[in-house]
Amino acid sequence: MSSTACPTTWLVTGANRGIGFELVKQLLESPDNLVIATCRNPEKSTALSELKKSAEGALHIIRLDVTDFANVRASAKEVETILGDIGLDYLVNNAAIVAWDSVFDMDPEKLVDILRTNTVGPALISQVYLPLLEKGRAKKILHISSQAGSMASFEELIAEEHRKLGAYALSKAALNMLAYKQKVARPDLIVIALCPGWVKTGKYSMQDMGGEKGLLQPEESIAGIIKVTTSATSADSGKFLRYNGEEIPW
Ligand code: NDP
Repeated sequence: MSSTACPTTWLVTGANRGIGFELVKQLLESPDNLVIATCRNPEKSTALSELKKSAEGALHIIRLDVTDFANVRASAKEVETILGDIGLDYLVNNAAIVAWDSVFDMDPEKLVDILRTNTVGPALISQVYLPLLEKGRAKKILHISSQAGSMASFEELIAEEHRKLGAYALSKAALNMLAYKQKVARPDLIVIALCPGWVKTGKYSMQDMGGEKGLLQPEESIAGIIKVTTSATSADSGKFLRYNGEEIPW
């Protein structure tokens, strides 16, 4: 357990590497936080296992494949058991996949896979975890989105790479609408879609998101994400924000 009697509780998807892992790491720097790090293969995540050794009970690692709907439902029961009487304060939908395709050559099966992971997963997780969020104090859902899903800022996007993100851009635009619709449906929650910036994660292959060309180190992006998320009020709900708090046009 965290050292506080009633810790601030977080659940992060895709926490075994990249932005998700760095987020868990920085959250554990505060003794007030209790973190549930979720990933597809906990038994293979040596990075999370290492982190757990020094977390003094403040880190729980559970399996959550966001495309496996039965697993998503079962995970909420597991989390409820971990949390006991307290609820979930922050739900962070971070897990995602990418393809460097474009709209006239994207593979329809890949498009379905990307939508399932990046949009349907977060939608179902939000539904399934709603009772735990209702019990929490912060009642915040953070969807890690991308500026690639913004129509209004498309022309500003600096890199040629962004022009190749077909299926991914569709999935993030849909995720943004999910955030907005969730805010409208539940004004008592604070729901934010947030772009972490172009962050150096992975190795810049077809499977990797940020890559070496990224403009930000994970540490800087995540410090901003935590600040923006923890300070967000109901006036920010339904907004599309950058890691530094700037608003991104839809
Ligand atoms: P990475 O590719 O480094 O990490 C992605 C994470 O998602 C991995 O932990 C991966 O797990 C997990 N994941 C993928 N599919 C599933 C699944 N079905 N179930 C559970 N976990 C899954 O990406 P980043 O850390 O760079 O990106 C994190 C978030 O930030 C994403 O939402 C991304 O769209 C967004 N983003 C990133 C940017 C960047 O520049 N890096 C820019 C804009 C947005 P596994 O290890 O098992 O594959």
